[in-house]
Amino acid sequence: MSYQPVSFHPAPVTAAAAPAADTWPVDAVLALFELPFNELLYRAQQVHREHFDPAEVELATLLSIKTGGCPEDCGYCPQAARYDTGVTAQKILPLDTVLQAAREAKSHGATRFCMGAAWRSPKDHDLEQVEQMVREVKALGLETCATLGMLGEGQAQRLKQAGLDYYNHNLDTAPEFYENIITTRDYQQRLNTLGQVRGAGIKVCCGGIVGMGESRLQRAGLIAQLANMDPYPESVPVNHLVQVEGTPLHGIDPLDPLEFGRTIAVARITMPKARVRLSAGRRQMGEAVQAMCFMAGANSIFYGDKLLTTGNPEVEQDQALLAKLGMRARSGAVDARCEVSS
Ligand code: SF4
Repeated sequence: MSYQPVSFHPAPVTAAAAPAADTWPVDAVLALFELPFNELLYRAQQVHREHFDPAEVELATLLSIKTGGCPEDCGYCPQAARYDTGVTAQKILPLDTVLQAAREAKSHGATRFCMGAAWRSPKDHDLEQVEQMVREVKALGLETCATLGMLGEGQAQRLKQAGLDYYNHNLDTAPEFYENIITTRDYQQRLNTLGQVRGAGIKVCCGGIVGMGESRLQRAGLIAQLANMDPYPESVPVNHLVQVEGTPLHGIDPLDPLEFGRTIAVARITMPKARVRLSAGRRQMGEAVQAMCFMAGANSIFYGDKLLTTGNPEVEQDQALLAKLGMRARSGAVDARCEVSS
């Protein structure tokens, strides 16, 4: 079957961002998933090489500025207050602590710094504190990004005025599977926030999580939603579920690693110029699966031994892996977003 996009999308969720002129029907995305594995990876490599240096990878760092105690019910998330996961709710970090972390990130070569907060949506006084962080981090000469949950009217503009460069807000999964994972906010609310971010002129980081019990068709549905945004996100984090004890998704059947690789390849083909980020779950993958994902077109990873709350490979391990693969960090651009959605 053809993998070319066609200009008809059969069942889109009404998006705040209108569909692109060339859109990806879910069945065309599914056809990509169903290609012979080597054919899929070959095509993904071809697309990747048209737009990126295949030896280059973007490194990411992430700071949780407000951990735990979240009122939402995302079934994968250890920060949801309703699940007993051992994550202790903390107040927002003081500005000095954030700046210290930002300086440290910069001293390790970072040019961008991401702040993640476990909120349903930021209240006005929360946003004031984040605006201050954004201004001060920006003053250090770093690019800024944030993941703070749903944004209300005018909040994206405020963040933009404070100097925010990127905002992360993930779709998580396909619209058809969404209610199995989250019930405290709906898909359209996510799309609305993304529309506000775009409307304010902030770059979009948006992806999802696979391995949550969704079908291949539903994985294709997620990718179609992302690829059909106009424009599609600059950054697409593809998270592999990290099963955390105490969350509803703990104990489900794990996703086949080859299927994860297929998801990366399909994201690369459908969103050729996006940074496709290997996000949560990398520690569980091992080197061979990560190498396969780079072959499939991933060109960004999280860097550092902790994400928002879950573990990540040690920096030295990552450096050794990149050296083994003959890959190098993208110079002057340490990116930082998107472990999970907020
Ligand atoms: S993913 Fe974000 S919104 Fe959902 S429970 Fe976790 S912190 Fe809250």
